[in-house]
Order: sequence, then structure tokens, then C-alpha cells
Amino acid sequence: MSQEILAVYPGSFDPLTNGHLDIITRSSKLFCKIIVAVTTNYNKKHTFSLDERLRLLRESTKDLNNIEILSFSGLLAKYLEQIKSFVVIRGLRALSDFEYEFQMALMNRNLNKKIETIFLIPDQSYTFLSSTMVKEIAMLGGDVSCFVPKCVEEELKNKYQKK
Ligand code: ADP
Repeated sequence: MSQEILAVYPGSFDPLTNGHLDIITRSSKLFCKIIVAVTTNYNKKHTFSLDERLRLLRESTKDLNNIEILSFSGLLAKYLEQIKSFVVIRGLRALSDFEYEFQMALMNRNLNKKIETIFLIPDQSYTFLSSTMVKEIAMLGGDVSCFVPKCVEEELKNKYQKK
């Protein structure tokens, strides 16, 4: 049954890290198709443009054939309805993620009771990893090669080290 399900992994991916990739890879084995839905929330200031975030995701997932990278704006619940999906994937790193994720999952279910949120836990080595931390390390000239795919590492260098 789960093999036929289209699932959506929403997020800002600003930028993509190996933690996000771990969740994408795990979900690609569980569901028939995954849409990685990149948020274009104009209230949130992003370091990477939407085009950059989409390109880096596409480049990093090109070997996974059931992954599609798209963008969306507005309410996730409405987007899910549009594409006829009712499964949301989110990653849980630590207890600190829990409260926000729990609230969001229940809110989405309130908006549409069919929506189920599936939480996946990444490899232990990624539980401390966040896009924000990666950007801070890169900004200070640190080595981020074990935290992000090669193409992201290069973009971070372009952004922070050639100024
Ligand atoms: P958002 O702004 O929607 O939180 P993020 O790109 O920060 O967007 O995160 C998208 C999803 O990926 C969230 O569910 C987040 O908990 C998860 N995530 C982020 N970093 C990691 C990581 N290192 N390991 C596992 N999941 C992660």
C-alpha cells in the first residue's frame, strides 16, 4: 500500500545539507514518489535564492529516480490538496525540533484531517546539523565538506569567501 503513496517533504533547504539528503534518501525507499517542496515564504529571508535552492537539490538528488524537486508558496495543506497528496515527511533531529513539528503536524491535520505527518530520524551523525550552522561555519571560513554535498560547498564558498 505505502508503495503507491506520493509523499511531500517540505522545507526551506537554505541550503540543502547532508541531513536533508539523508531524509530524502530514506523516504525514497518508503514511498513510490517524493516531491521535495521548496518553500517560497516571502516573510522569511533566505540566503540562497529559490533558483539556487532548487538547482542544488536537483543536482544532489539526480541519482534518485523517484524524487521531484518543486517549489510552492502559501499553505502546505492547500498545496497537498492540489497535488492530491496527504503525506508530509519531516525530519526530527532532537527533542528541540519536537515541539514545533508536533504543533505543525496537528495544525495541518486540523486544516485537513486526511493529512498524516511522518517523522524520520536521520543518521546519528546528522542530528546536530542545520542549514544555519553550516552557513555560520562557512562564513567564518570553516570546512563544511562533511556536512553538505560538494555543489553546496562550492556555492557557500562563492557566497562567503570571494567577497
Ligand atoms: P523549515 O524552514 O521548513 O524548517 P528546513 O530546511 O530547516 O526547513 O527543514 C526541513 C525539514 O528537514 C524539517 O523537518 C527539519 O526538521 C528537517 N531537517 C533539517 N536538518 C536536518 C538534519 N540535519 N537531519 C534531519 N532532518 C533535518
